[in-house]
Amino acid sequence: MNGSRHIQVWDNCLQMIKDVIPPAQFETWFTPIKPVSLLGNKFTIEVPSDWVREYLEEHYVSFIFKALRKEIGEDARLIYKVQMVQGSPVMEPSSNVQQPVNKPIPVPTRDISLLNPFTIPGLQKLNIDPQLNPNYNFSNFIEGECNRLGRAAGLAIAKSPGKNAFNPMFIYGGSGLGKTHLAQAIGLEIKRQYPDKIVLYVTANRFMTQYMDAVNVKNKLTDFLNFYQMIDVLILDDVQEFAEKQGTQNAYFHIFNHLQQSGKQLILTSDKAPVDLMGLEQRLLSRFKWGLVTELKAPSYATRLEILKAKSLKDGIQLPEEVLNFLASKAAGSVRELEGTLSSLIAHAILCGESITMDLAQKLTDRIVSVSAPEISIDRIQDAVCSYFGINRDTMLSKTRKREIVQARQIAMYLGRNLTKTSLAAIGAQIGGKDHATVLHACNTVSDLIETDRNFKQYVSDIEKMLKVEE
Ligand code: ADP
Ligand code: MG
Repeated sequence: MNGSRHIQVWDNCLQMIKDVIPPAQFETWFTPIKPVSLLGNKFTIEVPSDWVREYLEEHYVSFIFKALRKEIGEDARLIYKVQMVQGSPVMEPSSNVQQPVNKPIPVPTRDISLLNPFTIPGLQKLNIDPQLNPNYNFSNFIEGECNRLGRAAGLAIAKSPGKNAFNPMFIYGGSGLGKTHLAQAIGLEIKRQYPDKIVLYVTANRFMTQYMDAVNVKNKLTDFLNFYQMIDVLILDDVQEFAEKQGTQNAYFHIFNHLQQSGKQLILTSDKAPVDLMGLEQRLLSRFKWGLVTELKAPSYATRLEILKAKSLKDGIQLPEEVLNFLASKAAGSVRELEGTLSSLIAHAILCGESITMDLAQKLTDRIVSVSAPEISIDRIQDAVCSYFGINRDTMLSKTRKREIVQARQIAMYLGRNLTKTSLAAIGAQIGGKDHATVLHACNTVSDLIETDRNFKQYVSDIEKMLKVEE
């Protein structure tokens, strides 16, 4: 028998199919198919995923059979081989033409660009976009005492991803201190040294949405898990968002174990150290500690100065030394704040055609610093509420139903929702393990009281003022 006959047969089939379906569809669904063999009346093709197989069966099986029958006779049978993630192909006998199996499958209902990556066919050819921002690289990431360990570990990981003592790498620290930047820099550097490695950056929120989209649809969850299991370097940003999300945590746990056992690299970021992460399962937390846990701290004056110099150089703007010194001393909070101050200064100078002088800097930072008061966190809110009512933090977090404590707790939840971007679930988790419905109820209660009770309204606005004043 001629060993390449199956190729010829498939080519002929494709010619016929091409004539009857639109070119874009043909391109999408048929080009990833590989003819594998022809044995007797059994024709085997390889498809990239179960999802593609089902889509083909649902939409194109009649075309395929028509063509196949013409080529190899009425008793033609079609067998799919689904290319599996771990390179362990699975044979899956399919319908013959009399009894097509039409399983229900998730048909894309939205624009393809909005779909999760794992639902895009032909995935196994795997040109996954790592979702990395080229500006978040190592050469832009200024080194200081505040990030030295993280930076060095990141470079070591990039040299031998998965095969180092820092797996997983858990980066934590306050908002705007460079967690996302560092995590992405590692990804970029790996891609630079190992272009073939599959690197993926995903925010915890996006992962969660993908999981929720997949969880209720037959086979989609498997596709979701399979997709993540073939990643070589998985960067998960802001894992604290998983608080109280049991299903998502389970899915991630599963993926985490699989990747770690296969020697793949895991990188996570979080706004808190593992010990302080509430609402996350113990088994996940303990795994986070297996590798390296490293904190990014606020940069020192010297580092702030260097960051400012680097940024203004990049923008092609020369700032007088005294202005740089001044800015570095003013914006003592996060790097994000520092950048904000610098860019408003530059923007102002460009827009108004003024030169950047100490005068201008002083005028602007007075304004900026008072507008962008320090980042408000759930912690700070709870502190402020407790000190305002003169109660102790532990009491507030306890289960007590005493009226004034309940009230303080509700105000803290309300402010958490209005003054931060924290999710309801995460707010609840941080106030003694309440669920998201309880937080929502608290917020509604407080809103009602503000409208009906003048004293109450005063309390809330006093606390808000406390929070907006600089530390
Ligand atoms: P986080 O994820 O911790 O909230 P980001 O990584 O988003 O913070 O950083 C906030 C901004 O500060 C980004 O624009 C980032 O490029 C910048 N940045 C943070 N750390 C540094 C650093 N060490 N050098 C240069 N830029 C930095
Ligand atoms: Mg971030």
